[in-house]
Amino acid sequence: MTATTHLPTATILGYPRLGRRRELKRAIESFWKGHTDEAALQETAGELRAATRARLVELGLPAEGGAVPESFSFYDQVLDATLALGAIPQRFADIAGSDLITYFALTRGDRDHQPLEMTKWFDTNYHYSVPEIDESTPLAANPAQLVAQLAEAAEQGIESRPVIVGPVTYLLLAKASDGAGEGFRPIDRLDEVVGVYAELLAALNEAGAGWVQLDEPALVSDSLPVPRSETIALVERAYSILGGAAARPSILLTAPYGDAADALARLGSLPVEAVHADLVRGSLPEADLASGALTSAFAETQLVAGVVDGRNIWKTDLRAAFGALERLQRAGIDVVAGTSNSLQHVPHDVRDETRLDVELASWLAFADQKIEQVVILARGLADGGAAIEAELAAVDAILAARAQASGVRVDGVRGRVDAVTVADRERDHEGERRAAQQGLGIPELATTTIGSFPQTVEIRKARAAFGRGEIGQEEYDGFLRDEIARVIRLQEEIGLDVLVHGEAERNDMVQYFAELLDGFAVTEHGWVQSYGTRATRPSILWGDVSRPAPMTVSWSAYAQSLTDRPVKGMLTGPVTILAWSFVRDDQPLADTASQVALALRDEIDDLVDAGIRIVQVDEPALRELLPLDADRQAAYLDWSVGAFRLATSGAAADVQIHTHLCYSEFGEIIDAVDGLDADVTSIEAARSRMDVVEPLGEHGYSRGIGPGVYDIHSPRVPSVAEQQELIRIAAARIPGEQLWVNPDCGLKTRGYEETVASLTNLVHAARAVRAGA
Ligand code: GLN
Ligand code: ZN
Repeated sequence: MTATTHLPTATILGYPRLGRRRELKRAIESFWKGHTDEAALQETAGELRAATRARLVELGLPAEGGAVPESFSFYDQVLDATLALGAIPQRFADIAGSDLITYFALTRGDRDHQPLEMTKWFDTNYHYSVPEIDESTPLAANPAQLVAQLAEAAEQGIESRPVIVGPVTYLLLAKASDGAGEGFRPIDRLDEVVGVYAELLAALNEAGAGWVQLDEPALVSDSLPVPRSETIALVERAYSILGGAAARPSILLTAPYGDAADALARLGSLPVEAVHADLVRGSLPEADLASGALTSAFAETQLVAGVVDGRNIWKTDLRAAFGALERLQRAGIDVVAGTSNSLQHVPHDVRDETRLDVELASWLAFADQKIEQVVILARGLADGGAAIEAELAAVDAILAARAQASGVRVDGVRGRVDAVTVADRERDHEGERRAAQQGLGIPELATTTIGSFPQTVEIRKARAAFGRGEIGQEEYDGFLRDEIARVIRLQEEIGLDVLVHGEAERNDMVQYFAELLDGFAVTEHGWVQSYGTRATRPSILWGDVSRPAPMTVSWSAYAQSLTDRPVKGMLTGPVTILAWSFVRDDQPLADTASQVALALRDEIDDLVDAGIRIVQVDEPALRELLPLDADRQAAYLDWSVGAFRLATSGAAADVQIHTHLCYSEFGEIIDAVDGLDADVTSIEAARSRMDVVEPLGEHGYSRGIGPGVYDIHSPRVPSVAEQQELIRIAAARIPGEQLWVNPDCGLKTRGYEETVASLTNLVHAARAVRAGA
C-alpha cells in the first residue's frame, strides 16, 4: 500500500452535480437531441468538474489530502458503478459505440431495448438505475472515467477523492435479471465483484489517488433483500478483502442516510483508513463511547462525523454539532467534520436567491453554506472551541429569532389541528361507496391517465412570459383554458374513459400548491436532481400552513364543463407536499402534515361543490419517506396514512377518491396502501412487468387498482400487443371491475407525438382485453 495519507479536518461526501445553472442538464439533453456531439458534451462536463473542484476549495475544503470528493455523474452514481464494473446486462451487449453511448442506452433504452428500471435511492427523492445481474453478467474493471477525472483534478492542482458506490450496496440494490436462475440473488456474486473493486482501486492507486470513497448506505437500511445484520457482516467481509489489497488508495467507507451506531465500532475495526457516520439521522454509540470500545476501534482509523445535515436547507445548530465533535475528540478519536450525506440533495447557494425574504434567507444553508459550516467546525477541532465562539453565537441568535418570527406559529391553524377527531379521518364503508359511485358510469378496465399532459415549449414560454410580466393574468388564463380545451378534445378522440385537465398551469406538482398556500416560500435557483437530467425545485415550508383561497377549482370546473365524461380533479397529497419540499425542522412532520391535510380537505369540498365527482390525491412519495429503520416505520405509516385520510375523508360516498403512487415495491407497504382507503390507486408497474400484481392478488386487495402499462420514463412507444400482454398479466390476478388501465405516471416530461401514439395503443389494448383477446 502507498503511504497512508491523512484526511484533513473537513470534508463532504458529495456536491450537487447538474451545475449551478443546470449546465450539465442542458449539455446532455442537447447531445441526446443530436444538436451537439460527444466531444462537446465531454468538454462541458470537464469544465463543470473543474468549476466544482475549484468551488469546493474556494469554500474552504483543503486542496490536498483528498478532502475534495469527485462530485460528478453524467446521470447516476449507481449507473457509474455499473460501467466501472463492466456489468453490462447481456440484453444490451449489442449496443455499439463509446462507453457514454452504452451508458445512456442502459438508462434510457431505445427502440429495441427496455431501459433499466429506476427506483428511489434510499429514503430520498433521488432515483437510480437498478443494476440487472445474473450468474453470467460480465464483470471487468473499467476504471477509465475514474482515472480521467483524477488526472483532471491533479492538473488543476487538487488532490481529489474518487467516489464509488460500494460493492455491498451495489449488489443489494441490484435486481436479478429476468434470465437468472431460480433463487439467484445478485449478492451471491459479492466475492467476484469485490475482486473487480480491488482492480479499480489498484488502477486508482496507479493513477496517484491518495483516497477513495466507497459509499455503503446499505449499512443503515432495514429495507433490503437481506437482514441488516447480514449486510453488516457482508460489509466486513468485503472490506477485509479490499483493505488487505496490496496496492490501493486509503479508503473512506461511508454510511449515510441513517443510523449505523450499533455497527460503528465494528466498522472502525476494519482495515480501512476512515469511516463516516451520519450523526444527523443517526446517533453516537453511547455505550461504546463510554466504555472506550469506540476509541480502541478507531485507534488507527479516522471518523468522519456527519454532523451537518445534508438533507435539508436549514442552518445547522453549530453549537450542538460542535459538542458532538468535541466529545469524539475528547475520547481520543481522530475526528473529521463532515456532512450527514452527499450534498447532491440540496441546492447550490442561498446567495443566488435574490427574492427570498431576508429574514427567512438568514435561517437557510444550501450546499455552499453547509460547506462553510463544516469548515467552521473543522477550525474549532483544530484550534479549540474558543476560536469559533463568535460563529457559534451568531447561529444561536439566528435560531432564536427564527423561533419567534411571525407566521411560524399561527393560533388559528393550530386550533383547527387540535380539534381534529377520529371521525374526521373516516369515510363511509367501502361497499357503500362502490354502490354510490355506480352513477359515474365507469366501465371495466377503465382507461385514464395520471394527470399531467406534455408540458410543451409553448406552455413553458407562456409561463415564463407571465412570470416576467410580459403577458397579463387574463391573457395567461386564456392560454391555459385553450390548452385545457385541447387536451380534453384529444382525450375524447383517443377514447379515454376518465379525463384530466392536463395540469398545464402547474410548473411542478408541489410548487404549484406551495405558491398558493400560506407558510411556504419558493426559490429561484433551488434545483435538486431527481434523476438523470431531471431536477425539481423544492419549496420551503417554513411556517404554519393554511389555504387563503381555492387553488385548482376553476381549472377543473372548466375542464368538466367541456365534456360529458368524468374529469378527475387533481391534487397533491400531504405526504408528497412534505416529501418534496424542504420542511421546517422545528416540529414533528406529523403536525405539519395535518395542517397541509386540512387545507387539501377544504379544496376537495370546493371541487365537489363545483361539480367534480372524482378527485385524485397523488401520493407518489408515500414510500419515499418510509424510514429505513424498521423501528420507526409503524409510526411513520400511522401519521402519513392519517394525513391522507384527513385530507380525503370529507368526501361523500358518491365522490370517487383516487390516489397515485410512483413506485413498484408494493409488497412492502401494501397495508399502508390499504389504509389510505382510496377508491382507486394507480401505481408504477410497466418496467417491472407487473411484479406488483402478485402481492396485490395475495393480499386480497378489494378496491380499484391501476398498475401502469406504459412506462413514461422513456420515449419509447409501447405497442398494443405489449400493453395488452401487461393488462392480461394483471387481469389474471385482479377482477376486471377493479382493474384500471393507465400509464405509470404523469406525461409532463414526454412529447406529444409519442404520448398520443402510446395512449392510442393503450386504449386499443384495453378494448382488446375487454373483448376477450
Ligand atoms: N398527477 C401528477 C402528474 O400526472 C403525478 C405525478 C407523479 O406521480 N410524480 O404529473
Ligand atoms: Zn407517478
